[in-house]
Amino acid sequence: PLVLGIETSCDETGIGVVRGTTLLADAVASSVEEHVRFGGVVPEVASRAHLEAMVPTIRRACADAGIALSDVDAFAVTAGPGLAGALLVGVAAAKALALSLDKPIYGINHLAAHVCVDQLQHGLLPEPTMALLVSGGHSSLLLVPDVTSDVQPLGATIDDAAGEAFDKVARVLGLPFPGGPHIDRAAADGSVVIDFPRGLTSGRDMQRHRFDFSFSGLKTAVARWVEAREASGEPVPVADVAASFQEAVVDVLTRKALLACAENGVEHLVLGGGVAANSRLRVLAQERCDAAGVTLRVPRPALCTDNGAMVAALGSEMVRRGRSPGRFDLPADSSMPVTQVSTAPA
Ligand code: ATP
Ligand code: MG
Ligand code: FE
Repeated sequence: PLVLGIETSCDETGIGVVRGTTLLADAVASSVEEHVRFGGVVPEVASRAHLEAMVPTIRRACADAGIALSDVDAFAVTAGPGLAGALLVGVAAAKALALSLDKPIYGINHLAAHVCVDQLQHGLLPEPTMALLVSGGHSSLLLVPDVTSDVQPLGATIDDAAGEAFDKVARVLGLPFPGGPHIDRAAADGSVVIDFPRGLTSGRDMQRHRFDFSFSGLKTAVARWVEAREASGEPVPVADVAASFQEAVVDVLTRKALLACAENGVEHLVLGGGVAANSRLRVLAQERCDAAGVTLRVPRPALCTDNGAMVAALGSEMVRRGRSPGRFDLPADSSMPVTQVSTAPA
């Protein structure tokens, strides 16, 4: 089946076209430039940008895929979680298309889509797979027996998401928003010379939060370190701070991901979400998976950050599995839980 996916949960208008697990088109229009001067995504600005970009981006995706809209067998759209007003634009567009063409619509979970997108690059996910989902709004370890119906959270961040920590530390270092890619690049010229804290990795914290993460203490530690350096009148070694901070984040992420695999007898790990584009995370995850005999799957960076292909990928998998589509009055749910893979009744 031919599935068109629509993503508008944050500041990317993404339209993907997928046949089975084959990616035919992945058109993304981002409003990120419009948010830079605010240092973060402004919801109203994002919603308006989705409205403007929607039709041209759909046209571009269809042209890239060499299809007409009437060829599409099913539509998939991010129903949540995300910015309410932004989600509504995508959901309304998907309903208009599905209703006018009389095709089913799947209202799907953005986080499950971040996990499922790897199928477009590496084929069907092994079952079960452990997923490390690290993005701007989420950081979770998920046990995934079936990405269309059974996603089990083992742990999550108790404060900031990993991507949020990258963005906040970038600001402290005077790097532009969104900071993740800038820290990644700066770190390449630096060395890991500062020993920043690894939250929830020892003692009682580790006992109580075995598979949870905490990055807010790390962020504060970096800010204090930089302030102390500035107060001393010495220049801030941006590359070294970036490398040391990044190492603290990816060390904890990979350590807990491999522990979750070992304790649950899971032999496959997939990374997803914008932070999975981080070059050091990709290298360290591979090293630690090799050492543990775990197979690692990491989508290419363009599939890690928000896009429409991931939505189409999960929609396509829903069709393949014979899952029920959503109703034409399906809601946008800004706080859709990760356990709810789609808006259809289970
Ligand atoms: P969510 O998926 O939780 O709703 P989101 O959609 O805003 O959040 P994504 O687009 O999946 O998030 O990821 C964006 C985040 O990824 C930003 O915080 C950004 O800084 C981070 N990011 C992108 N590239 C990199 C990189 N190379 N290294 C580290 N972080 C990165
Ligand atoms: Mg974005
Ligand atoms: Fe995302």
